[in-house]
Amino acid sequence: MKGDLAAVAEAKVKSGTNSRSLYLQGANHLPERVPALQILVAWAHVLSRLDGLESGIGVIGPFLRRHFTADGLVVWLQEHGTWRLSVASPSALHTMVPVVTSAPESIQFSAAEKAPALPLPYQARFDLMIATEASEPLGWISLLRRHANSFTSDEKQLLQEMMDIFSAHLLALMRIKQAQALALTDALTEIWNRRYFEQRYADELKRAQRYRRALAVLMLDLDDFKSFNDTHGHLAGDQALQIVAFVLKTNLRQSDVLCRYGGEEFVVLLPESDLDHALLVAEKLRLAIWAEPFPAGDSTRVGRISISIGVAAFPESGDDEQTVLQWADKALYAAKKSGRNRTCCASHVNAPEQCKNLTDDQENGADE
Ligand code: GH3
Ligand code: MG
Ligand code: MG
Repeated sequence: MKGDLAAVAEAKVKSGTNSRSLYLQGANHLPERVPALQILVAWAHVLSRLDGLESGIGVIGPFLRRHFTADGLVVWLQEHGTWRLSVASPSALHTMVPVVTSAPESIQFSAAEKAPALPLPYQARFDLMIATEASEPLGWISLLRRHANSFTSDEKQLLQEMMDIFSAHLLALMRIKQAQALALTDALTEIWNRRYFEQRYADELKRAQRYRRALAVLMLDLDDFKSFNDTHGHLAGDQALQIVAFVLKTNLRQSDVLCRYGGEEFVVLLPESDLDHALLVAEKLRLAIWAEPFPAGDSTRVGRISISIGVAAFPESGDDEQTVLQWADKALYAAKKSGRNRTCCASHVNAPEQCKNLTDDQENGADE
């Protein structure tokens, strides 16, 4: 037999709906409902400022404690199928466990009689599930009081009403975040797209200007990619773009920003990098692509792809966004002009013969 709470939670999971909205019904008893409505209005204000579950817990926990005069509060959040204690206030409550156990795909509600005894001096506990999808709880909140049976049925109903509003709000936030991430991601290569680059580049350059830090920009373009497409087919071309993005990403640091600028062009932001360092990174990328065998339409053949790279940096190449990017673009053009499969630096744009393959020149020490 499942306990009351378990049965309620299970019914909620099964039905995906709830019939609680008594605080918004029953106009006959409106005056009695005013305190509850005031809490709901304050709740709506609190939720309107939340931007996620993790950060939200720090705000809604104290709110619930204050408005429901709870002596203790414990919150568990579900992460990759396991439950993690997020809040224990006071901290002596950290040994408590949620009424729900196990991974979301096999939700098991412990029978109320088996639920852990309340630690002294608490004698009443009310548990609320946070769930954005009916079948997937994201967290549990336990409110505790020192006096037995002190949560009235009105309080419980109000709390559950508030948790439903919170859950609906979280679901909307998650959908907005997913949509935002999609709008900034390139569908083919799954790296950042040009829109993201423009926002991020502006932010990074402002930061570099404010703190007088270096910021390098690499413009990369696949060489003779039209002929790769013509020879091996457009599908092999698409696959090659995916592989290029993967190889570039795995050869960059976490803090570097790789974006598809458009077509067969990529751009990389290297925070804290000056021209010399950026040239070394560019050469590492160029060589990694050159060493990569690309599937060429059938399993028996492989194709080779090279890239040309233009390198510029703040503040050496210019003082503002547009100037630095223009120099990276000019350097890329010079790299193409000097024979492709080259890295060219903004300071060599007027002498493209210097845009040689840096690794041809061992003295540069670029092939580390
Ligand atoms: P260059 O060395 O001067 O850059 O020569 P290129 O052939 O790479 O340059 P061009 O601008 O003439 O051609 C770019 C080619 O990139 C043509 C276009 O079909 C191909 N391309 C751009 N985007 C995609 C894509 O998403 N998928 C595939 N398969 N090809 C693409
Ligand atoms: Mg191009
Ligand atoms: Mg090209």
